[in-house]
Amino acid sequence: MSAVPQSVPFDPLRQRADFPLLARQVNGNPLIYFDNANTAQKPRVVIEAVDAFYREHNANVARAVHTLGAEATSAYEAVRDKLARFVNAPSRDEIVLTSGTTQAINTVAYSFALPRLKSGDEILVTTMEHHANIVPWQLVCERTGATLKAAPITPQGELMVERFIQMLTPKVKLAGVVHVSNVLGTVNPVRDLAKACRARGIPLLVDGSQAAPHLPIDVQALGCDFYALTGHKLFGPTGTGMLWARKEHLAAMPPFFGGGEMIREVRIDKTTFADPPHRFEAGTPNIAGFVGLGAALDYVESIGRERIAAYEHELLGYATAALKSVPGLRLIGTAQHKAAVLSFLIDGAHAHDLATLLDNEGIAVRSGHHCAHPLMQFYGVPATLRASLAFYNTRAEVDAFVAAIARVRKLLG
Ligand code: PMP
Repeated sequence: MSAVPQSVPFDPLRQRADFPLLARQVNGNPLIYFDNANTAQKPRVVIEAVDAFYREHNANVARAVHTLGAEATSAYEAVRDKLARFVNAPSRDEIVLTSGTTQAINTVAYSFALPRLKSGDEILVTTMEHHANIVPWQLVCERTGATLKAAPITPQGELMVERFIQMLTPKVKLAGVVHVSNVLGTVNPVRDLAKACRARGIPLLVDGSQAAPHLPIDVQALGCDFYALTGHKLFGPTGTGMLWARKEHLAAMPPFFGGGEMIREVRIDKTTFADPPHRFEAGTPNIAGFVGLGAALDYVESIGRERIAAYEHELLGYATAALKSVPGLRLIGTAQHKAAVLSFLIDGAHAHDLATLLDNEGIAVRSGHHCAHPLMQFYGVPATLRASLAFYNTRAEVDAFVAAIARVRKLLG
């Protein structure tokens, strides 16, 4: 698939037609799917790629010499190349295929951080992290005597960059930051943070789960050390994802998961391990899922990530203005630089009640803590309602959403 030129106007209705599920009705209404930050819908090309894999090529990877085994292996390995291009990695050997961001971050926690940390060391994250970029660090801190610290944010939901940099003391052995917050939509200034970390010799991990579906990603330009993303938010299947890491880090990391595929030679008294990235890929992976992810990456590239970002920016502006016009609605996360995520609260209405009533109208939004307890604690709320948009969403859906909020509010008194 070749990319549509930037000059061709983006047509969300044309893209919608590629997503079979978006045509369905929910509770007697046309579905409005505003839960894309949770997981995105899948275009037909992804569904068909998974289907075709199982119908025509299914075999295990890297084990069989027969034709199907070779086909499965080359289809699977081709996705490593596509991911390397997608994030502009210098080498395909720096791409570790994982089940998602969670496994990617745990790989860094157990293979990189755990062997290096000692009592008195620190890991620095931010208050706006997803639990996936908090809990793995806490687990390795508990085992090593290191401490997890979090840099503060402003009430608007922006990272206090100066404070983050001040907190990068010699005690800090690793830093982690979310590229785009799944709750606030804030786009963090990763390049600046990476520069500050590099100047102090501190490796920086970036959680790109929410950035990859919305922004062009260039790990070399960002200057970070590790970049994690998940396939299912990127219009691909669940159980797929990636860790990109600088070659020198991967080369120095012992494996944390052992089993088949990750070895060079196994003897009962000693095992030697395969080179990266295979050293970190024990066991049979989600082969069909990765084939689907490859189709998703091709699909996104065929639209053009700059075009997606431009359209979503415009839609976010429209949705933000529309929500601001709702009396008693408080937006949580009003950073200057945002991706298409809108969290909010409405006076006198519980987020879960609102989400349930909106679902009756066919509108899928998420209510809850969004796996970001520390952020909820910062705002002093147990939950928010979150509408998260994708390029297949439209202004008409935003209008219908705002009208539905007015209706369901009346029901709640
Ligand atoms: N980080 C962020 C910012 C996320 O939004 C999510 C998914 N909600 C994750 C990490 C975890 O991704 P996964 O469950 O696919 O590993």
